[in-house]
Order: sequence, then structure tokens, then C-alpha cells
Amino acid sequence: MDFQWYPGHMTKAKRMMQENMKLIDIMIELVDARIPLSSRNPDIDQLAANKFRLILLNKSDMADEKVTAMWEDYFKSKGFFVAKTNSKAGKGVKATQSIIMDACKEKLERDRKRGIKNRPIRAMIAGIPNVGKSTFINSLVGKACTKTGNKPGVTKGKQWIKLNKNIELLDTPGILWPKFEDQTVGLRLALIGSIRDEILNQDEMALELIEFLTMNYEGILNQRYQVDETMDRVKILEAIALNRNCKLKGDELDYTKAANILLEEFRNGKLGKISLETPEEE
Ligand code: GDP
Repeated sequence: MDFQWYPGHMTKAKRMMQENMKLIDIMIELVDARIPLSSRNPDIDQLAANKFRLILLNKSDMADEKVTAMWEDYFKSKGFFVAKTNSKAGKGVKATQSIIMDACKEKLERDRKRGIKNRPIRAMIAGIPNVGKSTFINSLVGKACTKTGNKPGVTKGKQWIKLNKNIELLDTPGILWPKFEDQTVGLRLALIGSIRDEILNQDEMALELIEFLTMNYEGILNQRYQVDETMDRVKILEAIALNRNCKLKGDELDYTKAANILLEEFRNGKLGKISLETPEEE
């Protein structure tokens, strides 16, 4: 992870987004489908007030499908257009073009009534670091894109990527900062590997994950590490260390190594499709 947030960064990122807001019709916000609320910054609601809104539940390949369906309903009930995407594999990405058109139909209708023809919809992608903005844009745009905008050196201007005759995309995504000062949010972002590991203690994170999994995804830890899930979480971590032969000198168990294996395997999807938050907690 190569980002760190300082107040200066945040102010600059916010100012850039504010400036760009004048230029766009629709805000396309990427969130991580495993933690749709923890991976968004609600400030965007104020920033993008009066814009058409589309939320993309990205990395849906890693999330629990049933929970993702609940999140789709949740965001729809809040008035957002919603879609799920797997940008890495390009799934659901092209389909967002017609959703964008649908989300902006009021604007198209307004233009039509005023006799304005062929004015493209202008869109911006935004999200916190690591949700997949670049991957999504690359997948959506592919190679067959044409950049429009002012020539470099003549006037400094925005670069627009023409997706098709109806939609143009601002080529630099808006960056929102995560709200990691909230402990639960910070923990969830760290668990999916979205913020620096050093911020939180590995053993503690693994224990939190063990507790969450035994409560919400019974059987997963037993299946992968042959552990008795009725034990307390420290005992379970110990059993994982034994299962994976994580030993220090003198045959002492290496809990931190076991914690790292668990976290790594969770992040790589080896434990299955798991969502860390549901709309029910709201
Ligand atoms: P950005 O910081 O928002 O631009 O995020 P990136 O596009 O750099 O993506 C961050 C990481 O997430 C990269 O390792 C991507 O390969 C991965 N990624 C992006 N989208 C997806 C997705 O839909 N599914 C999975 N499994 N990984 C993804």
C-alpha cells in the first residue's frame, strides 16, 4: 500500500473533486462489495449533491453474493442506481454504460425538450484508494478509446475519455479518503488489506477475523484449518498455528505467523466469498 493521508492531501483531493463537480452530470462511486459502507466516505453525498448517482459494488467476486444482493437493495432504497462489478475480470463493467444512460434519463429528456441534441453525458469515477478505480477505468475504456480535451501546452484542460457517442469520462478519478479514524471502519479496511498493515496489530486483527468468521461463516475455519470452532478465539489461532506448523525456536508456537497466514488467505479469497458488513447493522 503506497498511500498515506495527511490533512494537506485530503484538502487537495477534496478541492480537486469540488472543482470537477461543476463539469459532470453523474458521479460513479466505487465501493468494495465486502465493506460497502466502510469503503466509502459519506462526504461524497454533499460533494455530489444534485448529481445523478451510481454506486458500483466492485470486487463482487470476493464478496458473499447474498449479502451483495442485500446491499444492492439497500442502496436502491436510498435512491442510488447500483450495479455490481468485478473489474479485474471485466465482469459487469461494459453493462455500466447502459446503467449510466438510465441513471441520466432525466437529463437526456431535459436536453431533448430544449432541442439540445448529442450533448454527451459527462461522468466521474470516485472512491477511496484501492477500491479498483484504475482497474475499472482500464476495463471500461479498453484500448479503443479516444481522448478528447485541450491539447497539451495550449491550454491546460481536463482530459475526457469518450466511451461512446453518448458518454464521456473524466480520465482522472476522484480520490476520497477512508474514514479510518472510526475503529470498526479501520479494522475492516485493514482486514481486506486496504490500509497499511502496520497500523494495526496482526494478532489482534486475526483474532477479530476469527471471531467474525465463527459467528457469521460457521465451518469455514474448520474446513480450512481443521480447528474446533467452539473454542475461544485465542485457542483457534493456536490451532491454526499448529495446523500450519508455525513454530518459533524451541517449539514455541508462532502466533504472528499464523495470524499472517490467516489474514493473507482471507485476502486472497482462499477462505471463500466473504462479506464483512451487512446493511442490517445499519
Ligand atoms: P484504485 O486505487 O482505486 O485505482 O485501485 P486499483 O485499480 O489500483 O486496484 C487495487 C487492487 O484491487 C489491484 O490489485 C486490482 O487488481 C484489484 N482489483 C480491482 N478491481 C477488482 C475486482 O473487481 N476484483 C478483484 N478480485 N480485484 C480487483
